[in-house]
Amino acid sequence: MALPSIDEKYFTGFLVDLLNIASPTGFASPAIDFVEKELSKYKQIQVTRTRKGALLAKWEMKSDLPPIALTAHVDTLGAVVKEIKPNGRLKISKIGGIQWPSVETEGVWIFTAKGKRIRGSVLIDNASGHIFGQGGADTPRSDEHMEVRIDARTTSEKETRQLGINIGDCVAFDPRVEVTNGFIRSRFLDDKACVANLIAAVKSLTDSGQAPTRSVYFLIANYEEVGHGASAGIPDEVVELLTVDMAVVGRGQESDEFNVTLCIKDSGGVYHEGLNRKLRALAGQHGIPYKTDVYPFYGSDGEAFWRAGGDVALALIGPGIDASHNYERAHMDGLNATTNWILAYLLEK
Ligand SMILES: [Zn+2]
Repeated sequence: MALPSIDEKYFTGFLVDLLNIASPTGFASPAIDFVEKELSKYKQIQVTRTRKGALLAKWEMKSDLPPIALTAHVDTLGAVVKEIKPNGRLKISKIGGIQWPSVETEGVWIFTAKGKRIRGSVLIDNASGHIFGQGGADTPRSDEHMEVRIDARTTSEKETRQLGINIGDCVAFDPRVEVTNGFIRSRFLDDKACVANLIAAVKSLTDSGQAPTRSVYFLIANYEEVGHGASAGIPDEVVELLTVDMAVVGRGQESDEFNVTLCIKDSGGVYHEGLNRKLRALAGQHGIPYKTDVYPFYGSDGEAFWRAGGDVALALIGPGIDASHNYERAHMDGLNATTNWILAYLLEK
């Protein structure tokens, strides 16, 4: 049986909107709200929140087979205000593994605890070429030297505090989304692209009048980038967990932007043989272009669940994302292959 078709326009529109919502880990609720609103359009799906703030959606089906679950995360890298300097600028502390050089000169929003949004940008602390010359180029891009210049009149700690900025306020880097020629370039496609894959799969099934063969949970996690997103929230009755998260593209990797990848091993170890075998069979049956790969510096939310004691068969699939945790890029071919694999899995008899 052919898989239902994917509404690419819907996929791209949803993804671009989601990418444009700032959601660093710990400050991800606007993105959770957005996904909840979208999923609520599908009346067959019941949506709840975990205490931790993740979104748990259930598509209930009558079946003798126990439920399965899929997970992806909306939280992203980001930063918080660490110190207010005597000159009024901000020292910031990373959320997750952002690479400082990749955000140098990037625009940011600072979200104050009282709900104000203040604009700024990230620079090194000796940025002026006319003052520091070669010194600027030689400065290490480190916690010590990166600062936020605020687009408001302040030259002192006091004036910055008067703007309403405080230690611990969220700092979100501009996503800079561009869609060109089948490519989507943005931070942070990890893992918003895969949230869009899940939503697009729900839309495809709904549009074609189909449904999963068994009950399915979707956990949209909000703490993945710090290592424990899906450690809670997967119901006990779930027997298989498919983690949908980006595949690693770059030198030495098998993954690319035009395929979906089945991750066999990452920093957290090896995934589940039986579930991997099932996924490979489905890919073969449906002509889904996929690679297998090993990721050098990578841990997944599925592994977080395993480590927390979750007793499920576990696998990890996802679209190839070039330059991950940097200025990321994906292609519609790899993204569609991912949605198709999800569809094949949901429809598996
Ligand atoms: Zn991720």
